Amino acid sequence: MFVQAICNIGALSRRALTYRGEAPLGSLITVEVGKRKATAIVIAHSATSDLEGETIKELNEVLYGGYAWLSSDLIALAAVVADYYLCSLGAVLELMLPVPFAAKEVSGLKRPPKEKTLLLAANLVRQQPLELTEAQSAAVEAIKAAMLGGSKKPYLLYGVTGSGKTEVYLQALALVVARGQQAIYLVPEISLTPQAIAAVMSRFGDKVAVVHSALSAGERARTWQSIAAGKKQIVVGARSAVFAPAKNLGLIIIDEEHETSYRHEGGVNFHARVVAQLRVQRAGGLLLLGSATPSLEVYTSATEGRSELLRLASRPKGSFLPEVKIIDMREELRAGVKGLLSTPLKLAMAERLALGEQALLLFNRRGYAQFSLCQDCGFIHLCPHCDISLRLHAGASVLKCHYCGLHKPVSPLCPKCGSRQMLSRGAGTEKLEQEVRELFPNYGVTRLDRDTTTQKGSHERLLTEFGSLNSQILLGTRMIAKGLDFPNVTVVGVIDADSGIFFPDFRAVEESFHLLMQVAGRSGRGHLPGTVYVQAYNPDHYCLRLASQHDYEGFTRVESKLRRKLSYPPFGGLITLRFRSPDLLRLREDTHRTAELLSQDKNLTILGPVAESPEKVRDVFRYQISIKGPSRKYLQNYLREKREEIETICATRSHWYVIID
Ligand SMILES: [Zn+2]
Ligand SMILES: [Zn+2]
Repeated sequence: MFVQAICNIGALSRRALTYRGEAPLGSLITVEVGKRKATAIVIAHSATSDLEGETIKELNEVLYGGYAWLSSDLIALAAVVADYYLCSLGAVLELMLPVPFAAKEVSGLKRPPKEKTLLLAANLVRQQPLELTEAQSAAVEAIKAAMLGGSKKPYLLYGVTGSGKTEVYLQALALVVARGQQAIYLVPEISLTPQAIAAVMSRFGDKVAVVHSALSAGERARTWQSIAAGKKQIVVGARSAVFAPAKNLGLIIIDEEHETSYRHEGGVNFHARVVAQLRVQRAGGLLLLGSATPSLEVYTSATEGRSELLRLASRPKGSFLPEVKIIDMREELRAGVKGLLSTPLKLAMAERLALGEQALLLFNRRGYAQFSLCQDCGFIHLCPHCDISLRLHAGASVLKCHYCGLHKPVSPLCPKCGSRQMLSRGAGTEKLEQEVRELFPNYGVTRLDRDTTTQKGSHERLLTEFGSLNSQILLGTRMIAKGLDFPNVTVVGVIDADSGIFFPDFRAVEESFHLLMQVAGRSGRGHLPGTVYVQAYNPDHYCLRLASQHDYEGFTRVESKLRRKLSYPPFGGLITLRFRSPDLLRLREDTHRTAELLSQDKNLTILGPVAESPEKVRDVFRYQISIKGPSRKYLQNYLREKREEIETICATRSHWYVIID
């Protein structure tokens, strides 16, 4: 007997090697590759081999008692994903495993799976299905029919925030469970969606496996095994859970499908939605996407009939969408306002807080100040490893690099000229917290950002603090905009709402729009009416104007027109090649030669090579080339053709990878 096995080491991750011996499909084995020992996964068997008998080595060892970690379906999916993303098969297979290839054998896997659930999900009372609104039950019926009929088209559940999408998901999951099938329920980030997870746990209890980063390798592996054995019928997790080893897949739900966290960068650069689609196309099952603000790709596919649209138009139980007011900060400045909060927002907060209601403030920038500048000589603290200024943190006493994590204490003197005139410029959440505490000393303030949530469980603790009314003001980065349901919030403020709009990425405006719509949806979810204050320096921008009118369709019309004109996705293909090297001169040379090579096809527009921002991170330089063409498929085929030539150009000097939009 011969086995074909693949490991995830450099060029070897692209092709399987043949070994003599016996091991089940999908099991892990150790083999000799050249002179080194490596772990590999068995992806095929054969009785004979074309290779000369004596050149074929014996496999060394079969790990985990020959347990098959991946089914033939998943191995086949890995090949499809590798082909789609032009990446190596070994890298995709590695992503599918609960433990990395290189890990030592995880001990104790023979033990039955230990239950470990999230803090918030513990001690829950079993919850009964809620009564559905007309729109909700129409959606559930349509999903039921699609599942029974084996629909190949994805379904898009498009409903404003608070319209009750979660209950539709729960009832769709109940159908899957009743049919004895399995479902994967993807959420943007486990720690940011405790309420959705609690809802699933309380409805389905021990049928649910929650896959999250706090699991140890052993726990992760045991969870994987109980899913593969069918003991867990519902898998809840972030983007990587799309690879969960459910064998009898009836449904994949992607909640908040527009979220950028479904895009994975590093190793394999995949999008969970794309993988989910590839998976159900092969293995069957329904793909259900949900959002209050669907991505332009998904919404366009629904309007063009490639997916089915289900709408939940209104919020149930007489709650209303909040009123949104755009505050022109240029006028506020002229009127002498100095701080981060405008006068109307301050007044509204004072009034509502006095009534026992709560406020939420979004400021999508961490830290105290963006940089500190010497007024005498112009000195700015820069990170020595990254091409970016250090940010001030912790009440302006620590400097941090947001890219490599460098920390250093700050002195009141300019390191260059010794002047005391150091001025901090640009604010962040810490500065906002300080200002809010000074303005509203009688109320509790909770800050939620990456700096306050580094400890395990701190995220849930902070949310519980706010949810149980122990604090009245929640402020933070975009973390606070997601999936939270606090009925007592009646004032929402967005600071510098237009700061993300001019970011050089074709999705920047769309992402800003989504964020504004999401955060606005946090207000007035109970019976109290809410008001949202959007502070901006470009108050007339269509993104802000249409978000303030809750006009999603209007926004997609404007945005589609612009994208179509420039042939950006979904109206044209765009693939980005990213290049990395510690040697800037080499990197420039390699990227220029690659751009020249790619420009041979006159149907394509080559953008770049250009330095990314920041150009250097952790002492590694970063350049990219974007290619626009008639369609994604066209570009994929073209790059498959050119891959070897690009590899020859870059050789071992510049590492490169592909991002497919
Ligand atoms: Zn100075
Ligand atoms: Zn740095």
